[in-house]
Amino acid sequence: MQPPLTACRSLRIGVYEATWLSDTPFGSDGGAMFGIVPRALWQKKIMPDERNRVFVGLNCLLLRGAGRTLLVDAGIGNKLSEKQKAIYGLDPDVSLLKALDALGVPPEQVDTVLMTHLHLDHAGWLTVRTESGELVPTFPNARHVVQVKEWEAAHADHPLLSGSYVREDYDLLAARNLLELVDGDAEPAPGVRALFTGAHSPGHQVIKVESGGERLFCPSELLPTTWHLRLAWVMSYDLDPLRVVDLKRAYMAEAADEGWRLFLSHDPASAFGRLSRESEKEYAWLAQS
Ligand SMILES: [Zn+2]
Repeated sequence: MQPPLTACRSLRIGVYEATWLSDTPFGSDGGAMFGIVPRALWQKKIMPDERNRVFVGLNCLLLRGAGRTLLVDAGIGNKLSEKQKAIYGLDPDVSLLKALDALGVPPEQVDTVLMTHLHLDHAGWLTVRTESGELVPTFPNARHVVQVKEWEAAHADHPLLSGSYVREDYDLLAARNLLELVDGDAEPAPGVRALFTGAHSPGHQVIKVESGGERLFCPSELLPTTWHLRLAWVMSYDLDPLRVVDLKRAYMAEAADEGWRLFLSHDPASAFGRLSRESEKEYAWLAQS
């Protein structure tokens, strides 16, 4: 599914221009996207295909301003096997690199990549293979900001974790000195903060941008799509769903009450918007026009 042409693609947040870049649509198992929610309920929001997949967006956020170029997350890339690409229903015509190219931003210009976590649908474009098969960093001049707990989880070889990570996406970054491991909150650019949350994955972090009195919040997997506005609708990928719900409740209340703009990592149609509070537990999505 392609975002509607009317979807807002770019916002000004103080000194930063925030731009929504789409990597390929991604066919995720429908049940996994909605955890304990019965299909009879979630299919009213999004009908799965004949393989029970729902197609989500792989949304990356570009921040440009104050002489800086930052990228939040890096899609799924193009290094998966043909079989995996078919399983996920990837579209080779839609990619983060094409989106950057269309904006006239060469990968060499990106100075910082903020990784909300290292799952394979977020870290894929951190490295690419050249025609000769050599693995190279996609953003050779960027420091790549990753929580140390995420780095450890991505190397833990735990049976519950290992299917979510692909080491060739990120191990090269350490070898090339492009990795910046952080333990807790960080501010990699003025007004751009990475806040440790864990919960979805051991080192998951969310991003807040505050500049010139304007505010943008990227909750990443704490609120992946507008289908997940109900507090209990969380993904079965979440390692600590109770904590995801607690964090989600706190961040959604803050975002609604303080008027933050949001950027959603997996909504296929509407990445930028705001929350309006309908009741203590219920929110509505106001897409950015
Ligand atoms: Zn994830």
